[in-house]
Amino acid sequence: MMDRRDSFQNLLELKRFFRLKIKELHPDRGGNKEEYLKFIKWYQESLSKLSKKSLIKVLKNYFPTGNFCYRIETFTIKEVSLGLTKQFKLPLKEITCPTCKGMKKSLSGKKEICSKCLGKGFLSLSNNGESIQIKCSFCEGKGYLYRDICPDCLGKGKIKKEELVEIKLPFGLREGNILFISKEFFDSPWDFYIEVNLEPHPFFKLQGDNLICEARIHFYEILLKEAISIETLEGVEEVPSEIFKRGEPVIFPGRGPYLSENHLWRRGDLIIYPKIIFPEKINEKAKKVLKKFVNLLKE
Ligand SMILES: [Zn+2]
Ligand SMILES: [Zn+2]
Repeated sequence: MMDRRDSFQNLLELKRFFRLKIKELHPDRGGNKEEYLKFIKWYQESLSKLSKKSLIKVLKNYFPTGNFCYRIETFTIKEVSLGLTKQFKLPLKEITCPTCKGMKKSLSGKKEICSKCLGKGFLSLSNNGESIQIKCSFCEGKGYLYRDICPDCLGKGKIKKEELVEIKLPFGLREGNILFISKEFFDSPWDFYIEVNLEPHPFFKLQGDNLICEARIHFYEILLKEAISIETLEGVEEVPSEIFKRGEPVIFPGRGPYLSENHLWRRGDLIIYPKIIFPEKINEKAKKVLKKFVNLLKE
C-alpha cells in the first residue's frame, strides 16, 4: 500500500483515496487506532506537499504580470526527462545594499560638500532671537555627500539576495518552456519565470513524447557479441545484440521521458537508432580474412 500512497500526482486522487481508506481504518469500525492516526498524519503531509507542488508549473508561453523575476537556466535532457531535483540560485528577497548600507551612493567614491549646511554638518535656526543649531538632515551631520551612485545597487539602496534552492522539476519541461514558480512557494516578493535552455547531449534527443538515442555499434559487435551496451536515462544497460541485426530503430516502451497528462503521469518511449560503424580503411590482410568469412557464410 505504501507504493500506492507515494504515487499521488493530484489532490483529487489523493482526497478520494483518503475518504475511502479512512472509513476502513476508523477505530469505530474495528480499525487499529495507531494505524488510523498514522494515516491521518500521512494524509496531511501529502496534502501540503501536493498543494506546494501546484505552485510550480510548466508554461509554454508567458505574459508575466506584477512582480516577477526572469531567468534563463540550462537544463540537461536527463533532468527534464526524469523530473529530477535541481538546484537554482534565485533572489528570494530584497535586502539593504551592504555596499552602500542603503545610502544609494558609493561610499568609496568622490565626496562633495553639502550644499545645505555648507559643510558644517548643522544648520543654524533662530528661535525668538535665540540661535539654535540642529543637525543637517541632508548630509546627516557629516557636512559632505557622496556623489557617485552605488555600483552594486545602482542607486536603489537595496539588492536582491540570491539563495541556493532546490526544486523538484515538474514533468514535461522542454526547450524554450518556462518553469514557473509562484511567489508563494518561497514566500518571496515576486514570481519566477525560468526559461529552459536545453543542453545538447552527444546522443540523446527529445522528440515529442519520446527520447531518441543514437547508438554507435561496430558492425562486428552485432555478429560477435552477445550483448551490447546502450545508454538509457537510468544509465548504461546491456541488451541482446541481435535486436539490432536488422539495422532498424528499436523501441523500449515506457523508458522515455516522464510526461504529465491531466494530473497523471506516464512515460514516453526510448527509441534506439543503431548507427552501424564500418572501419574507414581496412588492410589487405583483413580484407582477405573477411572474404574468407563471407565464403564461409555461403557454405
Ligand atoms: Zn548600494
Ligand atoms: Zn549638510
